[in-house]
Amino acid sequence: MPMFIDTSEPGSCIFCRINAGELPAAKVYEDHFVTAFMDIGQLNPGHVLVAPKHHWENIFDIPPAEAQAVMLVAQRVAHAVKAAFDCPGLMLFQANGREGEQTVMHFHMHVVPRHAGDGVGLIWPRKEPGQQLLEHYAGQVRQQLEFNEELF
Ligand code: AMP
Ligand code: ZN
Repeated sequence: MPMFIDTSEPGSCIFCRINAGELPAAKVYEDHFVTAFMDIGQLNPGHVLVAPKHHWENIFDIPPAEAQAVMLVAQRVAHAVKAAFDCPGLMLFQANGREGEQTVMHFHMHVVPRHAGDGVGLIWPRKEPGQQLLEHYAGQVRQQLEFNEELF
C-alpha cells in the first residue's frame, strides 16, 4: 500500500485545489469539464494526469458523460505527448480505491509515455483458470450488465 493517500473532502482534495487555482500545477489543457496537468511524480518525462473539474471519487461515481469527456482529452493528450516526447509506447492507467492503488481520491487518468527499458512496469500475477471458469466469470459479469443497462 502507498504511504500517502489523499482522502480529503470533495472541494479540498489536491486536484480540487489545483482546479481552483489554490495549488500550483503545470497545466497542459483545460475546458469546462476537464483539466490536464503534469504529474508531480513523473514516471517518464511527459507523464500527464487528466481529471474532471468536479470532484468524483472514482469510476463508479463519475457520470458517463464526464468519463467520456476525460477519455477524449486523454486521447488528445496522448497524441500530444507522443509527438512531444517521441515515445514508441504509451500507457493509460486509471486507479480506483486503495486496493486498486488509488492515492488521490479524485478520479483521474494517467497518460504515461513509455520507452524500451524504462523500468516502469505492472506486477501482473497472471492466472489461466481454464475455459469453464472463464465462462462462469463471464456469466457473472453479463448478469450485472443486464441489471445496470438502464444507468447508461
Ligand atoms: P493515483 O495513485 O493513481 O491516485 O495517482 C495520483 C497521482 O497524483 C500520483 O502519480 C502523484 O504523483 C500525483 N500527484 C499528487 N499530488 C500532486 C500534485 N500536487 N500535482 C501533480 N500531481 C500530483
Ligand atoms: Zn477533488
